[in-house]
Amino acid sequence: MNANDFLSGGFAPAPESTDHFEIKKTYDLYIGGKWVKAAKRFQTTNPANGEVLSEVALAGKKEVNQAVKAARKAYDEIWSKLSGAERGKYLFRIARLLQERAREFAVVETMDGGKPIRESRDVDVPLAAAHFFYHAGWADKLTYAFPGAEVSPIGVVGQVIPWNFPLLMAAWKIAPALACGNTVVLKPAETTPLTALKLAELFEDAGLPAGVVNIITGAGETGQSLVEHPDVDKVAFTGSTAVGKAIRRSVAGTGKKFTLELGGKAANIVFEDAAINEAVEGIVTGIFFNQGHVCCAGSRLFVQESVADKVIKKLQKRMESLVVGNPLDKNTDVGAINSASQLERIKELVKAGKEEGACIWQPSGGVPRKGNWFKPTLFTECAQSHRIVQEEIFGPVLAIQTFRTPREALTKANNTPYGLSGGVWTDKGSKIFKMTTGLNAGVVWANTFNKFDPTSPFGGYKESGIGREGGLHGLSAYCNLSH
Ligand code: NAP
Ligand code: MG
Repeated sequence: MNANDFLSGGFAPAPESTDHFEIKKTYDLYIGGKWVKAAKRFQTTNPANGEVLSEVALAGKKEVNQAVKAARKAYDEIWSKLSGAERGKYLFRIARLLQERAREFAVVETMDGGKPIRESRDVDVPLAAAHFFYHAGWADKLTYAFPGAEVSPIGVVGQVIPWNFPLLMAAWKIAPALACGNTVVLKPAETTPLTALKLAELFEDAGLPAGVVNIITGAGETGQSLVEHPDVDKVAFTGSTAVGKAIRRSVAGTGKKFTLELGGKAANIVFEDAAINEAVEGIVTGIFFNQGHVCCAGSRLFVQESVADKVIKKLQKRMESLVVGNPLDKNTDVGAINSASQLERIKELVKAGKEEGACIWQPSGGVPRKGNWFKPTLFTECAQSHRIVQEEIFGPVLAIQTFRTPREALTKANNTPYGLSGGVWTDKGSKIFKMTTGLNAGVVWANTFNKFDPTSPFGGYKESGIGREGGLHGLSAYCNLSH
């Protein structure tokens, strides 16, 4: 593909090079410290141009069983017996190796998933390394983390992750599990398996004992076999609410522990006293970061009526300047939609928005011819009952509503089956306090949006899931604590 096939928003093309690492033609499963072949394979493609990147092994029931067995053996014979300080050494080593190969991981993440290189380089990879560093620090201090409790590992953890932050979600899952003395079988998403497989290469380089982490690639059925496996002690899942519900049903009565990080429909609330230019930047970050493929995306905007016209005009002007195109180009703001099926879902909901009477606006620029693309989009004249207001779109589509009083903003914002995140923009600390305590959401940002840190617990209420990841809350989900 030629970099000039893409639009570059008036900038000279500045593509990141792809000649400094290798994506193998085929990848096997990483089980018990070995690369294991499977009977079937599937392709992973670059959603920005449709090119096949690699053929990846598809784990069936037999391989899932093999991986769980390897994890059990490593748990019984090695990992649960190692001191916290020793476990910490491995985690520090993994974190440092990831930093050393940061460029390679960022480029592969962008090629496999479609997100802008600026994001994989500046957000996904550094945060993934930060998660390993943070949890490395806890590995030998668990008794201080939970004073008065006896802390022990849970056992074998089955982890299933989505395609929107493939490496980062792997780090969120693997780092705390290992810090607490558990072993892992992880299944990445079908469309984005490559950085998890590269992470397995890095575990080899770190000398991580065989079977402590096993990476099995496949689709939904592979995930289902893993979470239903009787020898898995805990299930950690990030993905859609529909699959989360199915998993909760399947673990019911089994005694398995579980955490579920599911969908969201966050309210981003802008008051008339907010710093408007900063708020506009926050709205853009909230919904267009990672093409809106973000569970905590600020996909519902509530603007106080007195400043609504001003905010929307400034937002439209800003959206005209967003560069949509080659994800590998360092100027790109909005990359490719992760898969054809996700693009269809976005199109279906946008069609419903128009049919139900909301008013669509998109910037004037085009999108590349090849690959999966959707223009940054906003809807005004939205009603609470509209599908685009109620359902998670998981794309670069913002639904705007207005409000007059803080109370009205809260009532409207909380009118959702989800409860993952929210944002408040105001000059007044008292309003921040009122809104952040009134919003039924696990994470609420004030005068900023989409900020993440390994020390800060993340997770939702209601249909956004159960349990937290990150911080002490996230750590506790990977331990048995007895007082
Ligand atoms: P998904 O269909 O639920 O898939 C998530 C993962 O589960 C993938 O690895 C998937 O495999 C696997 N899977 C599918 N069916 C399964 C089953 N029956 N049993 C076990 N595993 C199964 O979700 P997605 O469409 O990939 O991701 C988007 C959704 O995830 C959005 O709703 C988003 O809000 C949510 N999400 C939430 C968070 C959070 O932290 N709360 C973070 C990111 C995303 P395949 O991909 O191979 O089919
Ligand atoms: Mg892919």
